[in-house]
Amino acid sequence: MASGSPTLVWFRDDLRLADNGALHAAAKSGRPVVAVYVLDDSPGIRELGGAARWWLHHSLAGLDESLRKHGLRLVLRRGPARQAIPEMAAECGATSVFWNRRYREPERKIDEAIKASLKSDGMEAESFAGTLLHEPFRVQTGSGKPYRVFTPFWKTIRGNHPPAPLPAPRNIAAGPRLKTETLDSLCLLPTKPDWAGGLRRAWTPGEAGARKALRSFLSERGDGYASDRDRPDREATSRLSPHLRFGEISPGQIWHALHTAVHDETFAGTGHDAEKFLAELGWREFCWHLLFHEPRIETENLQKRFDAFQWRGEPSERTAWQRGRTGYPIVDAGMRQLWQTGWMHNRVRMIVASFLIKHLMIDWRDGEAWFWDTLVDADPASNVANWQWVAGSGADAAPFFRIFNPILQGKKFDPAGDYVRQFVPELKKVPPEHIHEPWNAPDDILAKAGVRLGPTYPLPIVDHGRARNRALAAFAKLPKD
Ligand SMILES: Cc1cc2nc3c(=O)[nH]c(=O)nc-3n(C[C@H](O)[C@H](O)[C@H](O)COP(=O)(O)OP(=O)(O)OC[C@H]3O[C@@H](n4cnc5c(N)ncnc54)[C@H](O)[C@@H]3O)c2cc1C
Repeated sequence: MASGSPTLVWFRDDLRLADNGALHAAAKSGRPVVAVYVLDDSPGIRELGGAARWWLHHSLAGLDESLRKHGLRLVLRRGPARQAIPEMAAECGATSVFWNRRYREPERKIDEAIKASLKSDGMEAESFAGTLLHEPFRVQTGSGKPYRVFTPFWKTIRGNHPPAPLPAPRNIAAGPRLKTETLDSLCLLPTKPDWAGGLRRAWTPGEAGARKALRSFLSERGDGYASDRDRPDREATSRLSPHLRFGEISPGQIWHALHTAVHDETFAGTGHDAEKFLAELGWREFCWHLLFHEPRIETENLQKRFDAFQWRGEPSERTAWQRGRTGYPIVDAGMRQLWQTGWMHNRVRMIVASFLIKHLMIDWRDGEAWFWDTLVDADPASNVANWQWVAGSGADAAPFFRIFNPILQGKKFDPAGDYVRQFVPELKKVPPEHIHEPWNAPDDILAKAGVRLGPTYPLPIVDHGRARNRALAAFAKLPKD
């Protein structure tokens, strides 16, 4: 029987037992542990979108199941956390509260306030590193400033091994049972209608699902990652993003597992594949680095001159984009993959984002909000930083004038049209040479494929060449740097 007053372990974006600094320290102390999660509605907390809420439901269920094996239950409460945490600490007589740090400004402020108030009540409040390879305040340029350019940032990180991941605690002493909300009462799942069928088929949320995705990447998908990661028609990437988003796996675990696999020659890919993959984890770090140092980028252009951009923002075009009915097959396939599975391939995210911003001249913030609502991996830093990257308004961003041609992008990255066929079944029978521009296909080919442009599949909502010139003209009006 464990003795001493309990420690409250507050789970947030770290829904796992392994490599969890806060849980590890609490278990190691030998004192009883009370595990809690707060669905926080404090001002400044960005409410999760529908797809992420679906993920969270299942991830919390998985975490509860893992904790039960140790005789614990995950206690669920509704926020604000500033109220809920001290209340739960008082209810179970805890004298210490542990958690892993978060890096978005509003959450940091909440955590600081809670820490100060617990300490002033004579309690121990301790936080740990948890969701990044290196904490953003520990990484800086030679002149002591935050990075704004990825390559030197990555050089610094790459040469610095993150600490070895902590094992899942063998024994956790269970603390007193607190009253808890039921998971269903948090209302995280869609009901009317239940649109989550595609998500259920595509994903296994939870720590075990994360470990499986990592194993499968290391032993199978890693082969050819560097060359195939841009191919949406191949399953070449890890699909770890939602698991990372909810902290079911840490980037440190991934980093070390990859290094071990390369060393033991069990990694399916080459050294080049491994480097490329690590660099993608580096982009995740970079996005958090930017958001940590420039919290305003959530809603403001990082480069101020983009404030003068004249958006068009035609609502019917926004709807066509959201529904995957723009008439550009690669764009429509991406938007439908997102709707059906809660995820979209990275190359296609870039194509659809560029299309919205440049072809339709719709504010990147609208696109970011749609992704926030529909992505299972919707991440406060990666979403915003990538949207600004595509818009040209961000850090180390793609120049605005580099406007993706959706036809050429489709031909290059989905050459046989298999990806389009999977998500745009109306075009299933269109031959590869026409699938990315069906409006240019001869009538008899379209008739044979059962396609009637307009009635069965839309004609392009904008002409690529004209839209490109319009966007460039708007860009030319911006003040220079
Ligand atoms: C407009 C736009 C919006 C995006 N929004 C998000 C988002 O909300 N959440 C999110 O996790 N990613 C976002 N990304 C980045 C990227 O598309 C996804 O991380 C990636 O597609 C996830 O698939 P994967 O796990 O198979 O990636 P892999 O290729 O297997 O990469 C491994 C991991 O590296 C990270 N990563 C890869 N590419 C990027 C990148 N460009 N930026 C940041 N991290 C990256 C992810 O954590 C990913 O799981 C966005 C990209 C764009 C262009």
